[in-house]
Amino acid sequence: MNNGFYGEYGGQFVAETLMPALNELERNFFKAKNDANFNNKFLKYMNDYAGRPTPVYYAENLSEKYGFNLYLKREDLLHTGAHKINNTIGQALLALQMGKKRIIAETGAGQHGVATATACALFNLECEIYMGKTDAERQRVNVEKMEMLGAKVTVVDKGSKTLKDAVSACLKDWVANVDDTHYLLGSALGPHPFPSVVSHFQSVIGREAREYFESSDKLPDYVIACVGGGSNAIGIFRGFMDTEVELIGVEAGGLSDKPGEHAIRFGKGQKGIFQGSHSYVILQKNGQIAPVHSVSAGLDYPGVGPEHAFLKDSKRVKYEFCRDEDAIFAFYELTRNEGIIPALESSHALGYIFKNSNFFKEKNILLNLSGRGDKDLEIVREYRGGSLS
Ligand SMILES: *Cc1c(COP(=O)(O)O)cnc(C)c1O
Repeated sequence: MNNGFYGEYGGQFVAETLMPALNELERNFFKAKNDANFNNKFLKYMNDYAGRPTPVYYAENLSEKYGFNLYLKREDLLHTGAHKINNTIGQALLALQMGKKRIIAETGAGQHGVATATACALFNLECEIYMGKTDAERQRVNVEKMEMLGAKVTVVDKGSKTLKDAVSACLKDWVANVDDTHYLLGSALGPHPFPSVVSHFQSVIGREAREYFESSDKLPDYVIACVGGGSNAIGIFRGFMDTEVELIGVEAGGLSDKPGEHAIRFGKGQKGIFQGSHSYVILQKNGQIAPVHSVSAGLDYPGVGPEHAFLKDSKRVKYEFCRDEDAIFAFYELTRNEGIIPALESSHALGYIFKNSNFFKEKNILLNLSGRGDKDLEIVREYRGGSLS
């Protein structure tokens, strides 16, 4: 990363009025990163509050069934149920360092909103969450949770009324309120320095995983993670970037390759500028942002973080996809064989290896189990026509 660019990707394609806020954030981030006090405070909250370090679990039953060795990095065991808390606590501490009293954030399914509202309750920060109207209706319980935690939830009734419209509403609020407000962005995307900030706080995942494998003297053959915006994947990949380990990111294949039925930014998308940075994005023929689909709300986004775009072009990471039906299969497969109900996002990474189990025969696979599936039960019930069992 150089000047906010990963090769040709990244940058700061934003209104002039946002530049002071981005510069202030960049300055404070680089200061915090090298500050032992800040890092100790972050780690203390990670360990005592969020539940780190998370275990690496050898999934014995599935390994035997499929003929590979599957290790799961258990981010699903964290407070609020996913890796998102790593980033929200990190950025809330940064906001405190910058003297900001108010936090705003976007949310799609509500997971990032809940993790943000949680950090704000903990640190006594005012909190406003923007959420598309369609999402707010689909995720009523998460809206109520955010409100219980003291956040104000503002429903966005514009465009597709989903995540990308919530991001746009946040950027607009930030322009108007930069003096006292920090925008706590939820994935490794958006204008510089956000991709660096988010991946830094998530890199704790890869650091712990690397330590685990180094103490057993042998690194895995593959590290695999699902890719929405890309934060849990970058977080675990960071721990293995300097090795020979093969890294695979799994996108949402949705229903089919047809436009509007998937979220395969790599392969079906193209280079473009979207929400503040240059990366891959799925566009329509007329150049407008295309509608995307995934059974998993966290992977249902037309853009992807710029570092992933760079890693794809440089071939350090391979990007594959998993269809809805294979992810649902994996959701049940982990539940029934290991007693772990995974998030639908993480189920995409799992679905990809089950589908390609011959290819992975005898290999050692480390898979980032980014979150737990409690939040997805209603979606799975609907997908299966009314019954979970
Ligand atoms: C939000 C979410 C994702 C997708 O976001 P990334 O930034 O790509 O990690 C993946 N898994 C879970 C459990 C999530 O909540």
